[in-house]
Amino acid sequence: MSQEVVVLGGGVGGSIVANQLVHAVSEEVNKGAVHITVISSRPDHVYQPLFLYMAFDQAVPAEAKRPERSILDPRISLIVEDATAVDTKAQTVSLKNGQTLHYDFLVIATGSKPSPELIPGLAEAAHWFYDEEPALKLRDALAQFDGGRVVLTVGLPHKCPVAPLEFTFMLDSWLRERGLREKTEIVYTYPIGRVHSLEPVANWAAPVMTERNIRPEVFFNMESVDPASRTITSLEGKTLKYDLLVTIPPHTGQKVIMDSGLGDKGGFIPVDRHSLLAEGTENVFVVGDATALPISKAGSTAHFEADVVAANLAQRLRGGLGTRRYDGKVFCFIESGGDKATYISFTYTNPPAPKAPSEMVHYFKLAYNRMYWLSSAGVM
Ligand SMILES: Cc1cc2nc3c(=O)[nH]c(=O)nc-3n(C[C@H](O)[C@H](O)[C@H](O)COP(=O)(O)OP(=O)(O)OC[C@H]3O[C@@H](n4cnc5c(N)ncnc54)[C@H](O)[C@@H]3O)c2cc1C
Repeated sequence: MSQEVVVLGGGVGGSIVANQLVHAVSEEVNKGAVHITVISSRPDHVYQPLFLYMAFDQAVPAEAKRPERSILDPRISLIVEDATAVDTKAQTVSLKNGQTLHYDFLVIATGSKPSPELIPGLAEAAHWFYDEEPALKLRDALAQFDGGRVVLTVGLPHKCPVAPLEFTFMLDSWLRERGLREKTEIVYTYPIGRVHSLEPVANWAAPVMTERNIRPEVFFNMESVDPASRTITSLEGKTLKYDLLVTIPPHTGQKVIMDSGLGDKGGFIPVDRHSLLAEGTENVFVVGDATALPISKAGSTAHFEADVVAANLAQRLRGGLGTRRYDGKVFCFIESGGDKATYISFTYTNPPAPKAPSEMVHYFKLAYNRMYWLSSAGVM
């Protein structure tokens, strides 16, 4: 009998775990002693960072997706279907089509989803760039924009912690190039008392905002939006008028996680921060946005976590203990407008320290956007 590994989610974390694992236990897979299955709700693998560039007409949808089958090693089985329940006692995953899969080891990598419906009026009134269709709508709205007040609002938690800053700085440059900056006020709101949750990033970004005449509005937690009067009101009692409202919606975990009773109230799964085992389990690993870890939800986080989980799973499948530990590593590029970017790299114990933006880092980010497909294939 083969040992069954089921990977739930064919995005960044799930694909990297599956591909790295199949190489690490290649012999066992070839002998039929280990079998790996990826379950994913969509046939395409989506590289989400390109949505930001799509909003500024600097990328098109075809560049952001490839068939998941083409990314996975041919020895990995792929099922394209929604999972509806995970039973960690029975060690099964149920699918929408009625199929039930048994696992010896499960990796949950279901990601997170923007949930604008949590704020009354937001979905109707605001633009966002966290999926293909909304990003294209925002692109069209920006193409028609000829000045006024742009308000950016941020819901927590959300994936890609630096995306609000990247969008704001890219918008500033985009408006300048078109001669619209003098006619536009940019208001950047943020839910806590500084412009970013990571203090060193806030300390770097605040003076850049002053330099570029971007108005920060902190302690602004979205309460409701009134599309008729084009106003957004915060829980703190502030109301802002907008001509164009752009939001990073608050995110939640996936329905399957909530329905299976695995998540916290936001649908994120509590895990051990080093082993990435779901609390109370010995054979359920969680990677990427799906964890409830208080660290950045980013593709790089999913990748670094996947490295650890694939290595530990390979050991466990061969009778070892699997003792590698995730150290909280995250790496994020930060586009800062004008074809420049910086980056941050940090762990649980070493805080980020953004450097002065440069053209070189910007072009490296653009290059990585193409190299990503090698990462997802488990090659780098
Ligand atoms: C605009 C934007 C810009 C970003 N920029 C960056 C960046 O510059 N750098 C960076 O590191 N990160 C960035 N990110 C974040 C990054 O894309 C995510 O953090 C990353 O994709 C998370 O990986 P994951 O594997 O956890 O989830 P995902 O990659 O989202 O994959 C989740 C998978 O689970 C599947 N799934 C979900 N529910 C089910 C179900 N019920 N049944 C079966 N399958 C299911 C989905 O179909 C999907 O394939 C950005 C994100 C956005 C939106």
